[in-house]
Amino acid sequence: MATETPTAVERLRITEIFHSIQGEADAIGWRTVFVRLTGCPLRCVWCDTEYSFYGGNWRDIDDILAEVASHGAKHVCVTGGEPLAQKRCLTLLQKLCDAGYEVSLETSGAIDVSTVDPRVRKVMDLKAPDSGESKRNLWSNLDHLLAHDQVKIVIASRADYEWARNAVAEHAIDQRCMVLFSPVHGAVEPRALAEWIIEDKLPVRFQLQLHKLLWNDAPGH
Ligand code: SF4
Repeated sequence: MATETPTAVERLRITEIFHSIQGEADAIGWRTVFVRLTGCPLRCVWCDTEYSFYGGNWRDIDDILAEVASHGAKHVCVTGGEPLAQKRCLTLLQKLCDAGYEVSLETSGAIDVSTVDPRVRKVMDLKAPDSGESKRNLWSNLDHLLAHDQVKIVIASRADYEWARNAVAEHAIDQRCMVLFSPVHGAVEPRALAEWIIEDKLPVRFQLQLHKLLWNDAPGH
């Protein structure tokens, strides 16, 4: 049986590495280097990064670190796809933390996050029904969230909103960490979502994706 070489153990399949402005979550507005890992086992209806499902290039983790360093940013966001679908993502996260970066991880909520380095700020989705993937929510992940983490729920309809509102209340998610509600571009009026949140006095943070306003979601931003 073939065994992996030591070099192979340290490689990840990467769709892109780029330098931009963080468009969402707690670190919004910071100049950030994004490391987008290839592949995702989910297929959310409204996914805006389908180009990351396939392809990509195998890159040594040390090579990734060198490219990240070349941009001179304090913040690094590891994203996808679903970055945790590649097990060596955990090594990348650890090495980025060791190098002194402020590291965030965007993850679908469908894969166990218990072994993620605790220095990493996890931005973890919970998938509402209109995503088509809510059955994939790994609810035990809520027990592994730290105070600096964030739960993000992307909302495509009033029904999604009510699901999200109930999930937050039922699991007291706001008492674990920050909760973000974000409208699906073109599916729910941002103002309507904002007004629902106000009307129900929810303990959540409304957000619009800054990069969509700035660059209309073009790859590389
Ligand atoms: S988990 Fe993220 S990358 Fe995967 S299909 Fe859903 S939105 Fe797209």
